[in-house]
Amino acid sequence: MEKCKFCFTRSGQYERLCTVCGIDKSKSKSELSPPEKLTRYFCRGIRVVGLLSILSAIMVLVHMAYAILYHRTIAMHGMTIPMGILPMLLYAIYPVFLLAFGYALMKYKKWTFYASMIYFPIIIIFSLSKLRCSGCIAGLFELVLFYYIINATSRKILLRGQTAASPMTCV
Ligand SMILES: [Zn+2]
Repeated sequence: MEKCKFCFTRSGQYERLCTVCGIDKSKSKSELSPPEKLTRYFCRGIRVVGLLSILSAIMVLVHMAYAILYHRTIAMHGMTIPMGILPMLLYAIYPVFLLAFGYALMKYKKWTFYASMIYFPIIIIFSLSKLRCSGCIAGLFELVLFYYIINATSRKILLRGQTAASPMTCV
C-alpha cells in the first residue's frame, strides 16, 4: 500500500492516480496544475476539520468525566444537563458522533458531507442564537469549518464516486 502525498490516503501500488484526490501520485508538488493545487489544499482543509472534531470530542469527554467525578451538572452551550443515566447517555451521543465524524472526515468518507449539511447549520445557529461575543466568534469559526466541507472542490473530493471521475483514470 502506498500513501498519497497530497491527501494521505493509502491506495494500491499499481494505481497511478489517487482514488481520493485523483492526482497522479508520481507528480511533485511543483508539477501540480492550479485545480490540483486547490484539491490538495482542500484535502488538507477537510483533514484539519476532522482533527478539530476529534479534539473537541475529547474535550467534551474530559468535561463529562470531570462532571461525573465531582457530581456536578454539565453545563454546555448555556444548557444545564442534570446528572443521571439517561441524560448522560443522551449527552454521550454528541462526543461519540464527533469522534466518528472527525475520524470519517480524515478518511474522506462520503457520509460526512451529508452529516455536515445537518450538523454545522444546527451548531452555527445554536452558537449565534446566544447573542454573546463568544457565541458569535464560535459561530463564525464553525462557519469557516463548514465552508471547508461544502465548497465545490471538497464536495468533489468527498462525493467522488458520484461524479464518475474514477473509471477513466487507467490510461
Ligand atoms: Zn490523494
